[in-house]
Amino acid sequence: MSNESFPFEIGNFQCVAISDGTFAYPDHSFFVNAPKEHLEQVLREHNIQPGEITIPWTCLLIDTGQHSVLVDTGGGAGLVPSAGKLLRNLQATGIEPVDIDTVILTHGHPDHIGGNTDAEGKPAFPKARYIMWKEEWDFWTSEPNLAQLEVSEDIKQLMLMLARKNLPPIQGQLNLIDRETEILPGIQVIAAPGHTPGHIALAISSGNQQLLYISDAVLHPIHLEQPDWYPVFDLVREQAMTTRRQLLNQVAAEQVLVIACHFPFPGLGYVIKKGERWQWKPIETMD
Ligand SMILES: [Zn+2]
Repeated sequence: MSNESFPFEIGNFQCVAISDGTFAYPDHSFFVNAPKEHLEQVLREHNIQPGEITIPWTCLLIDTGQHSVLVDTGGGAGLVPSAGKLLRNLQATGIEPVDIDTVILTHGHPDHIGGNTDAEGKPAFPKARYIMWKEEWDFWTSEPNLAQLEVSEDIKQLMLMLARKNLPPIQGQLNLIDRETEILPGIQVIAAPGHTPGHIALAISSGNQQLLYISDAVLHPIHLEQPDWYPVFDLVREQAMTTRRQLLNQVAAEQVLVIACHFPFPGLGYVIKKGERWQWKPIETMD
């Protein structure tokens, strides 16, 4: 399996999980309140060396037959050396930026909007309409209050800078939505707030197949097994936990295929309910 792109089908939709790259985070930033020894034990069970964890940044391309849809735009060129590869990986699958007619932004974090614009600050997808939840747009384009985030001041400034750089320039191509709606046939927006105030998930369906793009409603497979451990990045923590539980219960009950932006690439799998917890079952990917 390529670590850069992974094609799969949902009914008649041709989908490709596209890597934007990876980033190494301090492990505790994903599990702030986890007791240190317990966290180290759980990380080792997942074959992760405690300290730093390398996390993929994955976007999704959907060719519905009528529309070429990109979900999230990665970190963009120049944010970090280990990411910003989305455009190159799109081109490697035969897709040029002008081919994309719809860009759906699930939330306003740097690793999801960083590729909105090109080096000149113009929309990187010149023919696309960009779609975002209105409350999310309003939050990041006003003076957002990041006080409750337990990240360093540098990271907060980076978030604000990337929002300033990547949101206003797309305004001329922007469609804001304020309710759960089918944006295109087979692509339904689902409100999934908490990670950010207007974070969304997407229910994608074609034929009798379904996929939930859960985006950052859950950040790591360990959160399924340890649902009380939370990441620093959830802006509205209690709401994020409620959203996470709801979505996990729903996809487990309905056995819906899930794609999660930050799970081991390509981030595709199923959620299995285990009492009050869950477990991640990645799809089989052949080498
Ligand atoms: Zn993210």
